[in-house]
Amino acid sequence: MSEERSLNFIEEIIEEDIRNGKNDGRVQTRFPPEPNGYLHIGHAKSICLNFGLARKYNGKTNLRFDDTNPEKEDTEYVESIKEDVRWLGFEWDQELYASDYFDQIYSFAVKLIEKGLAYVDDSTPDEIALQKGTPTEAGVANEYRSRSISENLLLFSEMKEGKYKDGERVLRAKIDLASPNMHLRDPIMYRIRHVNHHRTGDAWCIYPMYDFAHGQSDSIEKITHSICTLEFIPHRPLYDWFIDELEIFPTKQYEFARLNMTYTVMSKRRLLQLVNEGFVNGWDDPRMPTISGMRRRGYTRDSILEFCDRIGVAKRENVIDVSLLEFCVREDLNKSAWRRMAVLDPLKLVITNYPEGQEEIFEGENNPEVEGGDGSREIPFSRELWIERDDFMEIPSKKYFRLGPGLMVRLKSAYIIKCDDFVKDEQGNVTEVHCSYIPESKSGHDTSAIKVKGTIHWVSVPHASKAEVRLYDRLFNDEDPMSNGKDFLEIINQASLQVMPAVYMEPDMAHAEMGRGYQFIRKGYYTLDKDSVEGNLVFNRTVTLKDTWAKEVKKG
Ligand code: ATP
Ligand code: MG
Repeated sequence: MSEERSLNFIEEIIEEDIRNGKNDGRVQTRFPPEPNGYLHIGHAKSICLNFGLARKYNGKTNLRFDDTNPEKEDTEYVESIKEDVRWLGFEWDQELYASDYFDQIYSFAVKLIEKGLAYVDDSTPDEIALQKGTPTEAGVANEYRSRSISENLLLFSEMKEGKYKDGERVLRAKIDLASPNMHLRDPIMYRIRHVNHHRTGDAWCIYPMYDFAHGQSDSIEKITHSICTLEFIPHRPLYDWFIDELEIFPTKQYEFARLNMTYTVMSKRRLLQLVNEGFVNGWDDPRMPTISGMRRRGYTRDSILEFCDRIGVAKRENVIDVSLLEFCVREDLNKSAWRRMAVLDPLKLVITNYPEGQEEIFEGENNPEVEGGDGSREIPFSRELWIERDDFMEIPSKKYFRLGPGLMVRLKSAYIIKCDDFVKDEQGNVTEVHCSYIPESKSGHDTSAIKVKGTIHWVSVPHASKAEVRLYDRLFNDEDPMSNGKDFLEIINQASLQVMPAVYMEPDMAHAEMGRGYQFIRKGYYTLDKDSVEGNLVFNRTVTLKDTWAKEVKKG
């Protein structure tokens, strides 16, 4: 990765623990996604942190699916999560599921009932909420709080056996209804849900709440450092209380700031809404901040790892500028992408003094940034070429160094040409540009002594390979799509996808490789999309070439 950096606060904690011989110096982390959606770039930060720590300190990382909300979970999500973690280059020690612990978690609950620390409550959810009080007002105990241990044991087993309907009863911890921490005011441990679970089927009709499953799973796995995001700070006393009272392995929870990014929605629930309501074409739509969407768009693994490394691990909430992510992928693709010419908005150019039927083959390096080279390709040249429409101006402005009547430019890797004339249709649109070439100006063998200021890209008309190109822009018009008072669906950028149906490319692009980055010279970085079929290739623009962030960084 990048230059040496100082330890982040979790590394400091771990090094201290190792020095003190805590857990015999063992480091065991876990990445605990709920399989209710595809992973996004925020999860990548958590993955890099959890797997990175284990890698650094000779530890292990479990991939644990926190699957305690059966209504929203699905094996499709499990599979996608595994694929994404692997793609990021991490291998987990064990693949585990909170649902595998349902028996054990149930017996934990029984233990708390037996200790007089849990009770079955028949109140409705509204009553429970009301009786909980407010942050400034203590809660009040109801008649169920004083139920006997034997009655609680009976009712809880009846809940498990399916005797009651959804919402009829819950199991609550008996802690402190006056605690200033609302999470300690007799939190719910179990609720009744007569629904099918993607792994346990109909075996259960009661499911543990997050707070009575997460820490218990951590403890069962003897996780040493359970890392989560800041919003779980107020849950920590409850996390510790359950572990203490159950007398099980004392995992410790540590909280770091989640990744927030400008112009980006980072919540699976909202991303699901974008998918379900058709604002995007699936979870892996290249405009999505999902790992699968970014991969499809052409983001490389290294660019994501570099991004996660640069943003670091903080204890305070912050918002990262999405242009940092774009900077990282640009920097990485500059090193690996093959250079090609592609004309997105074509205009025909005829070299009138170039013999009809003649052709030449020029050689172009695949990537001049690679030391020792990265091979080359052949670029055919002929009398008729495609150039970008905006590389020609009928009445050139003062500082325009491209084509216009009387102006000269170099055709990249080929000759210098001079514009003599152009043709218009009845509507006044330019349809053809006529030029003459300077035979002595051949690239690499130039004896013409002519100096030109501009170089433009081109593609030979008879040799061109035609493809569709999809250009992407930010999905939201607002830098902070999640800020309160805004409906994020209202600020969707309606022009976030622009399709160019007929783009002309160098002929060898007909054999473009899936997963490879291409730099279309002067146009940006692109990659082959999975929608491609023989004869109709589709390319995604990963990112433009313009590099506004780098200037900011240098200034800073
Ligand atoms: P979402 O709100 O997007 O559904 P989540 O936190 O509910 O996210 P989980 O599947 O529970 O999603 O997350 C798995 C792990 O990833 C958790 O440890 C969580 O803290 C972490 N994580 C989720 N979002 C982010 C984020 N934006 N930045 C860093 N870590 C995150
Ligand atoms: Mg969650």
